[in-house]
Amino acid sequence: MSGFVEKPKAVEVPGLTHLHTGKVRDLYRDQDGRLVMVASDRMSAYDWVLPTEIPDKGRILTKLSLWWFDRLTDLVPHHVLSTDLPAGAPADWAGRTLICRSLDMVPVECVARGYLTGSGLAEYEQTRTVCGLALPEGLTDGSELPSPIFTPATKAEVGEHDENVSYEEVARRAGAETAAMLRQTTLAVYSRARAIARDRGIILADTKFEFGFADSGELVLADEVLTPDSSRFWPAEDYEPGRAQPSFDKQFVRNWLSSPASGWDRTGDVPPPELPTEIVERTHAKYAEAYERLTGQKWS
Ligand code: ATP
Ligand code: MG
Repeated sequence: MSGFVEKPKAVEVPGLTHLHTGKVRDLYRDQDGRLVMVASDRMSAYDWVLPTEIPDKGRILTKLSLWWFDRLTDLVPHHVLSTDLPAGAPADWAGRTLICRSLDMVPVECVARGYLTGSGLAEYEQTRTVCGLALPEGLTDGSELPSPIFTPATKAEVGEHDENVSYEEVARRAGAETAAMLRQTTLAVYSRARAIARDRGIILADTKFEFGFADSGELVLADEVLTPDSSRFWPAEDYEPGRAQPSFDKQFVRNWLSSPASGWDRTGDVPPPELPTEIVERTHAKYAEAYERLTGQKWS
């Protein structure tokens, strides 16, 4: 089992049509046909959306995503048109709402990996490959790869995990020219971001981008970028290959959920419990710290 304990109700805003409630974000279309992306304070762990929200998370991740978009425009245009609050929207949407160009999305999760872990590690242990790419012997959980690799995935149905696919499969689905552009842009953006993060003591182990085509035919970077929700950030000072690396944002939550204190069995069907205040506060502090370390700016 996985998913929501209780799926949140869409907020009704005159002039906006609700399109979708994701695990973490809510999507609307405005009367000009633009996409309105609202980042919530919801957090997921172990495939569940937790019943407790993390204050400020939506605003922190939105601001971080914008900060990154700004640093990438010479590599690829992004989809954000405005950060203005749509007329009639609740005041608490401020700072976590992006008005975006509505794109024809490429149905591929464009993942770049500089380090081996997660589904990449699982595939490597079976076949010494990731997404069909051969890797050297002797790598372990957390190993830095000889060079970053493009490991695309296809989006799964709700409740399923994304499925890693080969580059050839992307070329079949999206066309050879688009596949080449996706790979090149994904790796270029990852490399830029990884260098920036590394300078600030954070290892960007891997990250996922989504792209879409504008009416003009240009490829545009969409969704959110380089946030803890779309990336694995590891504190560089604790990095030690050969074991699972602590996650920058989720570690307190995961530790608590898997401890006897939570009384929760993550292998069962019962939804996770509410988080204690202390775990919420420490997790909030981690999101703020990620923002501050990466951007060099105070969160508040
Ligand atoms: P999950 O919660 O697992 O991420 P999800 O991907 O369905 O589920 P969201 O990430 O909240 O939910 O939804 C964002 C959706 O909006 C994705 O389907 C993404 O592909 C799409 N999207 C992002 N940017 C744009 C854009 N500029 N134009 C059109 N669709 C976009
Ligand atoms: Mg998504």
